Amino acid sequence: MNFFRKNIKKMTAYVPGEQPQEPGYIKLNTNENPYTPSPRVLAALKEAASSSLRLYPDPMATQVRKKVAEVLGTRPERVLVGNGSDELLGIIARSFAGPGDKIVFPYPTYLLYKTLAEIQDAIPVEVDFPEDFSLPRGIVVKGAKITFLCNPNSPSGTMVWPEEVSQLARQIEGVLVIDEAYVDFADTNCLSLVEEHPNVLMLRTVSKSYSLAGLRLGFCIAQEPLIEGMLKVKDSYNVDRLSMAAGLAALDDQEHLRTNLAKVRETRAYLTESLREMGFFVYPSQANFVFLRCQDSRTAREIYEQLKSQRILIRHLNYRKLEDCLRISVGTPEEIERLLECLSEITCEARKGK
Ligand SMILES: *Cc1c(COP(=O)(O)O)cnc(C)c1O
Repeated sequence: MNFFRKNIKKMTAYVPGEQPQEPGYIKLNTNENPYTPSPRVLAALKEAASSSLRLYPDPMATQVRKKVAEVLGTRPERVLVGNGSDELLGIIARSFAGPGDKIVFPYPTYLLYKTLAEIQDAIPVEVDFPEDFSLPRGIVVKGAKITFLCNPNSPSGTMVWPEEVSQLARQIEGVLVIDEAYVDFADTNCLSLVEEHPNVLMLRTVSKSYSLAGLRLGFCIAQEPLIEGMLKVKDSYNVDRLSMAAGLAALDDQEHLRTNLAKVRETRAYLTESLREMGFFVYPSQANFVFLRCQDSRTAREIYEQLKSQRILIRHLNYRKLEDCLRISVGTPEEIERLLECLSEITCEARKGK
């Protein structure tokens, strides 16, 4: 018996990265921030927890909207707050694409875009990145309702510069969603494109740069007509009181953010350099992870397994054409030192074995 819509029956579920339930792992597989969130977050959570959980939260997340607008230099009316940017991606899919519509994105990228297209019974159109992960020519697709661009991109860590993204926004039909989950770690961002283009939606999250992946809070920035339409689609109480209170406190502590970003960027440079010295090809990263190529897919698999047996988790993505690649999140200097030690043992052993 099948009670499901055809497209749901046919699709495979999105599989998030491993979240081991036992402690003791060095976790470099899902791009979490290795540093703790601002101490103000804990204080705000305590206060929010002790007061008003009996009452529904503000459906418009008014204070958070204001704060985001202040931090990003835009207007509160241009901000939509969500239960993580994953929820906002879902609202976008439901708002702009239905059965048979085209949803376009480069390959490889964040796998959720495809899942969301399948849930909508839309047509996912994957356009391969060229080898250097610059913007693919074929990304402008006639009749596209949504074009997703993860920038900086995951898993590559590479970035398309704002001038090019701006051109893309002008060329495409439908909306352009710029997923900036990692942009705080980058040298630039596409925020100004929201002012210039009525079809641009930009996504930000507190999961990565603010060390709050456990919280679930994300923001969509776009011109008013897009935000107003999406408000009709979202759940009334999509963001809970605790997340709002904690998010506000995190956004309020920009000093804490800056300090942690500087540390992650410094460790990223060190990790990149060290991996290159070991002979890996490492893509230039604008995110809080690095993406590297091994000799072949067997080597990549082996490195992943061996590290796992030493309780270090990295990501071996079984992406078509990228079976020889590994993605490593930037941890603390101590975690990265341990990773590099293990890695150099593994590669030495492999050499001896040949
Ligand atoms: C982590 C991530 C997200 C999810 O962000 P949440 O706010 O945790 O839902 C969205 N897009 C990309 C590309 C990500 O890497």
